[in-house]
Amino acid sequence: MIKTTVVERVLRKELIKANTVINDEVFDYLKRYNGPFCSALKENVVVSKQNLIPLCQDTGMLEFFVFLGHKVVLEEPVETILTRAVKETYVANCFRTSVVDDPIFQRKNTLDNTPAVVHVFHTQGNQMTVKFLVKGGGSENLTRLFMLSPTATVQEISDLVVEVVSAEGRKACPPLNVGIGLGGTADKALLLSRLALTKSFNERNSRHCYAHLEVELLRRINELHLGYQGLGCGLSAYSVHIEFFPTHIATLPVAISFDCYLSRRGVVEFVDNGSYDG
Ligand code: SF4
Repeated sequence: MIKTTVVERVLRKELIKANTVINDEVFDYLKRYNGPFCSALKENVVVSKQNLIPLCQDTGMLEFFVFLGHKVVLEEPVETILTRAVKETYVANCFRTSVVDDPIFQRKNTLDNTPAVVHVFHTQGNQMTVKFLVKGGGSENLTRLFMLSPTATVQEISDLVVEVVSAEGRKACPPLNVGIGLGGTADKALLLSRLALTKSFNERNSRHCYAHLEVELLRRINELHLGYQGLGCGLSAYSVHIEFFPTHIATLPVAISFDCYLSRRGVVEFVDNGSYDG
């Protein structure tokens, strides 16, 4: 059994870290950036880490991707555990709570940043891997879904992605992390595009043709010269990741999700060693 207390303790630590300590990949790029507001951006990183205060006022809505092995036993539903970890972290650390209870009528803040969005994937084995995104509203609002004709060419899909980034990318605090979901059903494509955002910048699709498209799209997006904070200097995007899934003969869903320059994400692994005594 994997104890609830263990999962919560580890996740609380990871959620604080994701919000207050810049991830190493992002920092590597930021160190080399010398354009407008570079000092302020770098100082922000230092001050946040030293004082454990958020890197951005928008401390996001949490989206979890749980890969749950079939031999794993939990004390409670995983969604309950993750939601409690979010609640405790955000309340105890006074991180901004950014979730409202219903989307169009009252829009009343839930005051603890819950619920989180939880996706569960059932896998083989005794391991539970939890990936997460701290998803700010600015990048979330750029999410797009297109249902293209199945005859659409790779060039047309590539042009579409570049067009969206060119038109809207500045609104999401670039450099961006771009996740693309291709195929499946409409909802599957969107889910894949989110999952793509959890990958490391240098990770490439295992299928050569998709890996090549990722690299080509990144090249084209960086030719847009959005730059840090959309000010035209530095990178437009760190990375493009594509996830794909078989699809219906009559459809071609294309989903595009974005993350902003902070790329706040994490991954934690737990193993169920078969013990029930904790
Ligand atoms: S897009 Fe990212 S950096 Fe910009 S305000 Fe939102 S969370 Fe903060």
